[in-house]
Amino acid sequence: MTETATAPTAPLRARAEIDLAALRANVRTLRALAPDAALMAVVKSEAYGHGAVPCARAAVEAGADWLGTATPEEALALRAAGLPGRIMCWLWTPGGPWRQAVEADIDVSVSGMWALAEVVAAAREAGIPARVQLKADTGLGRNGCQPGEDWAELVGAALRAEADGLVRITGLWSHFACADEPGHPSIALQLTRFREMLAYAEEQGVRPEVRHIANSAATLTLPETHFDLVRTGIALYGISPSPELGSPADFGLRPVMTLSASVALVKHVPGGHGVSYGHHYITPGATTLGLVPVGYADGVPRHASGTGPVLVGGKWRTVAGRVAMDQFVVDLGGDEPEAGTEAVLFGPGDRGEPTAEDWAQAAGTIAYEIVTRIGTRVPRVYVNEEQSG
Ligand SMILES: *Cc1c(COP(=O)(O)O)cnc(C)c1O
Repeated sequence: MTETATAPTAPLRARAEIDLAALRANVRTLRALAPDAALMAVVKSEAYGHGAVPCARAAVEAGADWLGTATPEEALALRAAGLPGRIMCWLWTPGGPWRQAVEADIDVSVSGMWALAEVVAAAREAGIPARVQLKADTGLGRNGCQPGEDWAELVGAALRAEADGLVRITGLWSHFACADEPGHPSIALQLTRFREMLAYAEEQGVRPEVRHIANSAATLTLPETHFDLVRTGIALYGISPSPELGSPADFGLRPVMTLSASVALVKHVPGGHGVSYGHHYITPGATTLGLVPVGYADGVPRHASGTGPVLVGGKWRTVAGRVAMDQFVVDLGGDEPEAGTEAVLFGPGDRGEPTAEDWAQAAGTIAYEIVTRIGTRVPRVYVNEEQSG
């Protein structure tokens, strides 16, 4: 991902400003919400589009104890960039870089027997015990080991490998299906099953350093799920896991990313003028149009054609017609801002701009997808990089 750490005021076609002071403050807020648990900063998928390495550094500075990624490649990239301490990754496929992960001192998740066999082989070759966290499927129905015989087989094999000095079982963990829907019956069921699967493993002799199941939603709203560690992703970036749970401000969180573009052209057009591919917008009368030079290649969802909001010259405007690959148009209603005027697609909201949540609603998706899909063609501009900022 492009790192543009200098001159945040340089004129750019488009920019995603990343406020690292906001991210650090969010880390501190989350730590205070889960005071008895360690905090894992989840920085998978380029820190949800914000840039993995700068965000991981800022999170560690602000007190995150662990870093978490989906893929081993993401975890190895953090280690290669010099990030210290505990790093865990959980999305493995056969033939993955187990040995590199073991040698880089990364905690690896194991959900089944094939994975345990591969990590044990890698540890034997490396001559270093692997740090393994056994993942239980307590009801999500995605990754993780099923309760019952499968769990007994995996726990038994992992304990034998531990006795042989090939692995150290550092964690037992799981993931919620519906933590963002308070009162959903699956939450209590998953917690009960998690406790049963923990109890079984511990009876057999597993002595994990950390037991964990909470994502952002559970960290924010379900203290009984915190156990030894919470894994926060979206909340770090100042976005609520779900608007029904509350706004970022309700939780003391501040959005980290501001996406803006420099208006490329403002022009007068007559009424009845078709706008953008397919002419899905026709000017209702003589007006001015503004060209915003970002499109679906930059992550502006095409599903927000005709609905996405953008702040131009102090006013909310709406995408007129289709979002194209590289650009979209807004009807400026006769206003004549100069070319080069800032168009703010989303940010924290305190300058009156829309938020990522507004774009999620416009596109029929979740704010996670809005920030994560901002493309690599948009430079990330880091502000407040210094700890004091
Ligand atoms: C992405 C992810 C998280 C973080 O989820 P948020 O809802 O963003 O907090 C936690 N755990 C796992 C296994 C994940 O894949």
